[in-house]
Amino acid sequence: MNPKWNGQFSCFDLVAKTDQRSRSTIQVKNIEIGGNDFVVMAGPCAVESEAQLMQTAEAVAEAGARILRGGAYKPRSSPYAFQGLGIEGLKLLRKARAATGLAIITEVMSEEDVDLIAEYADIMQVGTRSMENYALLEALGKCGRPVLLKRGMTALLEELLRSAQVIAMAGNRQIILCERGIRTFETATRNTLDIAAVPVLKTVSHLPVIVDPSHAAGIRSLVPVLARAATVVGADGLLVEVHPCPEKAMSDGNQSLTFGEFQAMMDDLRPYLDLERGCRELRPQPLAVGGAD
Ligand code: PEP
Ligand code: MN
Repeated sequence: MNPKWNGQFSCFDLVAKTDQRSRSTIQVKNIEIGGNDFVVMAGPCAVESEAQLMQTAEAVAEAGARILRGGAYKPRSSPYAFQGLGIEGLKLLRKARAATGLAIITEVMSEEDVDLIAEYADIMQVGTRSMENYALLEALGKCGRPVLLKRGMTALLEELLRSAQVIAMAGNRQIILCERGIRTFETATRNTLDIAAVPVLKTVSHLPVIVDPSHAAGIRSLVPVLARAATVVGADGLLVEVHPCPEKAMSDGNQSLTFGEFQAMMDDLRPYLDLERGCRELRPQPLAVGGAD
């Protein structure tokens, strides 16, 4: 491991990689995240209706996703936009879980909602706008569920790991990191996918790392190619938005894949995953990554 990077991040002792702890895996139902499987979480940006969620759950399960995503409490950029179905959305997620066997991931925005959402969700999602909400992170430290921590859209990797350390110090070591694109001067994409975040985080931290190509791209046509990039840099999985009819979606329709596009993306990823796995066995571990002095 590059001594500079290790020194930079080792103060976050509960989440930093050490000689004793190089990799942690997170068990969700029968799914292992951070192990040998590439775990795909997919579904609508927001839960909108029973029909929308059930159809999506069945389609993504059929295509190979293991976890259903769907926001019931939505942090929208505009106060005038659809804010989510709340508890009715959570009940629909529970129904979809029972019907398909998929595990559920959904966002929590406030520490006041943690206990309620933990009754319905298998994984608690912290969105980009909440990465430094320490009251929320501390409550998640005691929720008894794995947490998916998204990188703040203007956050350094150091700040992402600091937030992970806050959750871990509050009592929860089951944390998955997520790169979802950061804000840069580029406007051709919604955010800029920082693909280097994956090998950096995998080098300095023992936590699993996944990529959200949907919020990074903001454009449907770019999602599969960014997903492909995630596979070959060693990500542990993906978080992808899928909708039965993206043009009618109540949120993030532009970046949501149709069922057919999601299936095609999953098929396209297979050879890249096999290649990455084959090469991983040949490569010395851990991957050495370092910045220039
Ligand atoms: C989402 O996953 O729908 C979401 C709101 O993501 P982010 O927090 O990355 O914007
Ligand atoms: Mn979204």
